[in-house]
Amino acid sequence: HDAGVPGRVRVAVRLRPQNAEELVADADFADCVELQPELKRLKLRKNNWDSDTYEFDEVLTEFASQKRVYEVVAKPVVESVLDGYNGTVMAYGQTGTGKTYTLGRLGEEDTADRGIMVRAMEDILADISLDKDTISISYLQLYMETIQDLLDPTNDNISIVEDPKTGDVSLPGATIVEIRDQQSFVELLRLGEAHRFAANTKLNTESSRSHAILMVQVKRSIKGREQGLPGENGNSFHMVKSLKPPIIRKGKLVVVDLAGSERIDKSGSEGHMLEEAKSINLSLSALGKCINALAENSSHVPVRDSKLTRLLRDSFGGSARTSLVITIGPSPRHRGETASTIMFGQRAM
Ligand code: ADP
Ligand code: MG
Repeated sequence: HDAGVPGRVRVAVRLRPQNAEELVADADFADCVELQPELKRLKLRKNNWDSDTYEFDEVLTEFASQKRVYEVVAKPVVESVLDGYNGTVMAYGQTGTGKTYTLGRLGEEDTADRGIMVRAMEDILADISLDKDTISISYLQLYMETIQDLLDPTNDNISIVEDPKTGDVSLPGATIVEIRDQQSFVELLRLGEAHRFAANTKLNTESSRSHAILMVQVKRSIKGREQGLPGENGNSFHMVKSLKPPIIRKGKLVVVDLAGSERIDKSGSEGHMLEEAKSINLSLSALGKCINALAENSSHVPVRDSKLTRLLRDSFGGSARTSLVITIGPSPRHRGETASTIMFGQRAM
């Protein structure tokens, strides 16, 4: 299967349907964007008679189903993870435009609603065999350059360790849970959400001010036959096989629900709010620089500038796949934020 082009970032844009409030407030105004999905184009209205046109790898309208969004945005990345590569799926956009809907929906009332995290795990569980392969997850929140464990709230300052030789990232102390079925995975996601809510209430902040990061490690044991040895007939082959240790193939999927990209009025904020705003700007702009470097095929990806990019270090470049979905709303009142989200997406391509 086509697991996508390594190195390059695939960028999709998804438009959220008009909500009840917008239906009233924006009734007399045109949407700020117009989509041409078959041309993979988006037009951003400048005024009544003029607009700018942008192209993306995929343009998902307000009618795009969760299934289609998964297939376009995440499936190729999940497939490459199953093949032993690292892959990242990220959602970037203003608060309220559908990042969490796209990535984190559990879809317990209506399975059609299931988001990318749940669908990815379904595909992974369907592809591996649990008698020899393992799936394990960690679920984290990154807030003000501090990593908190969403599976264990007492773990509120996790450090990042990078292997100087391989560049592999590990998080000593972070809870790792082995997943054997879909139901326990969904329960862990729900538990993580509850812990996130509690932690943010304690810190007096909104979940939109932090990044939520799900890491899924898939370890597969590849048998001798798949290493290129002859078939299973004959004792001698059998011996060769049993002497040869299985190859362990590791792939890591990282799903990142980014903090809201909206500009916070720094002049009006002070103290904690100002620090929070600065921290979000720092990590999102560091992420932008890394994605731009990937897009330009640059040999230097500046991962050191933020914890977010250090955490994603082994998911950037090389054989890793990266998929970005930028989420936008239709309201002309948020045209400025929508324009800046579109520019972030464009720079990544
Ligand atoms: P964000 O995480 O970017 O702040 P959310 O995912 O919480 O935004 O979405 C904001 C609201 O819009 C939620 O009530 C969500 O259910 C709704 N919503 C977002 N995207 C869609 C969509 N594609 N279809 C229907 N409702 C959506
Ligand atoms: Mg959200």
